[in-house]
Amino acid sequence: MDTIEKNKVLIIGSGPAGYTAAIYAARAGLKPVLYTGGQPGGQLTTTNDVENFPGYPEGINGPQMMIDLQKQAERFGTRINYGLVTAVDFSTHPLKVTVDENKSVEAEAVIVATGATAKYLGIPSEQTYANRGVSACAVCDGYFYRGKEVAVVGAGDSAAEESTYLANLCTKVHLIVRRGEMRASKIMQQRVKNTPNIEIHWNTQTEEILGDESGVTSVRLNTNGVQHTISVQGFFLAIGHQPNTAIFSGQLDMDEAGYIKVIPGTTKTNVDGVFAVGDVADRVYRQAITAAGTGCMGALDAEKFLVAREAEPAHA
Ligand code: NDP
Repeated sequence: MDTIEKNKVLIIGSGPAGYTAAIYAARAGLKPVLYTGGQPGGQLTTTNDVENFPGYPEGINGPQMMIDLQKQAERFGTRINYGLVTAVDFSTHPLKVTVDENKSVEAEAVIVATGATAKYLGIPSEQTYANRGVSACAVCDGYFYRGKEVAVVGAGDSAAEESTYLANLCTKVHLIVRRGEMRASKIMQQRVKNTPNIEIHWNTQTEEILGDESGVTSVRLNTNGVQHTISVQGFFLAIGHQPNTAIFSGQLDMDEAGYIKVIPGTTKTNVDGVFAVGDVADRVYRQAITAAGTGCMGALDAEKFLVAREAEPAHA
């Protein structure tokens, strides 16, 4: 290991949950250190307008919101480091974390805010055409497909949002829905249905993404057992997310989908001094505001833990 860094509070992750935890921990004088992970700013950096975060009557651009949260965390003394946590050892105190496979970091308390990552269908052609027509982020990559025809797979709020976003840029959007209904909220579904250049393909599976050396050229679909091909240059995935918890496997208790389990009403995990906040521990709400709310809870729980620990005779 290159270096050993010792901290009171270590926050892993830089989405709304991580930054909110940082703001609260810093204002409580805990001098938190935050490691950003591989996608600084988290999932909101891949979204456009956030219209449902209270306090922004006109909405706010997702990446801008994350820059503002970072500045707010830094203003109170959070140290923000770019780096990916690659391993943890929570079997003893102080808690141990490895960053970028070569830096050892110790902390009295750890707040896990590693969020979740976009899911893929699992067909080989997704990888063949990755970054050559296949994308899991319409807001990041949609611009490259302006004036072209694209497909979006999914039927939740993300698929609805991404389809309407792409419909503004593209000549036509094919929305591929595997069942006969969408699970997106009514208002989002209505927006999709009211957008003339979105065609919904109900009861449809994606069988293969087809292309040539220039990238994606078409997608082979199967609707109720009937194969057909649509001509598209872009294929966007919007089928949900996987919690980023692989590094905590065997150390933190998780549910069957890999979300970290917390004691209800708290952010406490099964390990003393380790707290889980935001989407990594929330398979239900998964909103920026709920992530921020639990980020606040995590910092308060960590503070309480540290106060109690310092009062113990062994640490006084
Ligand atoms: P969801 O888990 O809500 O939806 C995933 C969708 O993908 C489902 O409709 C599912 O189909 C479909 N799907 C899953 N696997 C496949 C597959 N292999 N092939 C085809 N389709 C598949 O994920 P979202 O990302 O849409 O939303 C996550 C959360 O974030 C939700 O709580 C949502 O409300 C929220 N959100 C809110 C937004 C906003 O308010 N502005 C914007 C975006 C997300 P099926 O229905 O058949 O299971």
